[in-house]
Amino acid sequence: MQKQTKNILIIGDGIAAWCLMFELNRLGHKITQISHDESSPACSPRSTSINCLRGTTRGKSPLGDLICESYEYFEKFNLDFSPAGIYKGMEYQLFDNPEKWLRRYPEYFKVQDNDFLIEHTQKLAHYFPNHAYFIDPVELKNWFLDQCPCVSIMNERVIELKPVDSKTIISTSSGEYSFDQIYVCAGKDSLTLLEGLNSKVDYYLQHSKPVAGSYFEISLDEVEHEFENNLNLYFDKYSFIYRKDQNILQIGSSSTNKSDSYEIDENAMSIIYEHVKSHLKIDLPAREKFKIITGVRHKGFKRRPYWGEVAPNIFAVCGLYKNAYTFAFLAANNLVAKKLVT
Ligand SMILES: Cc1cc2nc3c(=O)[nH]c(=O)nc-3n(C[C@H](O)[C@H](O)[C@H](O)COP(=O)(O)OP(=O)(O)OC[C@H]3O[C@@H](n4cnc5c(N)ncnc54)[C@H](O)[C@@H]3O)c2cc1C
Repeated sequence: MQKQTKNILIIGDGIAAWCLMFELNRLGHKITQISHDESSPACSPRSTSINCLRGTTRGKSPLGDLICESYEYFEKFNLDFSPAGIYKGMEYQLFDNPEKWLRRYPEYFKVQDNDFLIEHTQKLAHYFPNHAYFIDPVELKNWFLDQCPCVSIMNERVIELKPVDSKTIISTSSGEYSFDQIYVCAGKDSLTLLEGLNSKVDYYLQHSKPVAGSYFEISLDEVEHEFENNLNLYFDKYSFIYRKDQNILQIGSSSTNKSDSYEIDENAMSIIYEHVKSHLKIDLPAREKFKIITGVRHKGFKRRPYWGEVAPNIFAVCGLYKNAYTFAFLAANNLVAKKLVT
């Protein structure tokens, strides 16, 4: 019996959409991808995009279990397909009061016993080293697109979507289009598109929020000090992200709860810059030399991501918050295999 090819729409152009495009394309479906960066800028390329477990282990909370399962799936994906734009490195979480970090890092180390940290950092006495993946969103996106050359791309804003019989119709400013299935990967704008289709999902989305965040970025050509590898030095909650493979340095990030504003909070950014500078023993380029990039995350209800079937033939992945580059790979695989974890 011949396999039935479906006419599928993916709404979004971020990590959730790219992973779904890959999984659906492998099944041979006809795929259209629609997004509108002008009215709804994707967060995925405006992100420090690191994938790191940061002490999360199984058996402590359902969210922790999901993070571990997603991280393992991401590593398997990386081994199986070797996508472009994924680089390995180290992250050092540095801190002073170990009691505060005990749940995450029951075992930790003294900075005074680590020559590398003694040479480059100051002020904080304890640390924990983590393996981390430093992701280049643009390179990764281009890899996904190369794997799916037949995907049609539309640059339009979806105004509404509605199920009609066994199809789903979307309306945009240029007209109405019909699809067999729709996957909504609209980040913080998911509520607008999905509202009224499923009361449980409505509840989840009404209790989710946008969280704006900004970080500094500069070319490594402007940085005097050179490290050998990709490196993230996390000084309490602010980080110095040295991306050797991408030739950029990032410092960040701010977090403004319940905000989808792209306006830069100069005061918050000064605090971050000075905080990181004061914990380093190396010189940073002057603050004015950096550009500032802002993205808006989607924080799910109780920090949990959502992926599942919202209504017949309408699926969604959202609420990926600060772990999008961990969750999105498993989310796409689960949805396409119809293992609908929520
Ligand atoms: C400062 C900062 C640092 C971060 N650091 C990390 C990190 O280190 N690790 C990590 O994993 N995550 C991090 N994140 C979070 C992560 O970047 C996001 O959670 C992730 O990008 C969300 O991906 P997404 O695909 O769900 O949504 P997005 O990338 O936001 O994509 C949503 C898409 O939907 C489209 N869309 C929305 N509405 C419509 C509509 N009506 N019609 C058409 N298209 C529409 C948009 O145009 C966009 O393309 C960070 C975020 C920020 C801001």
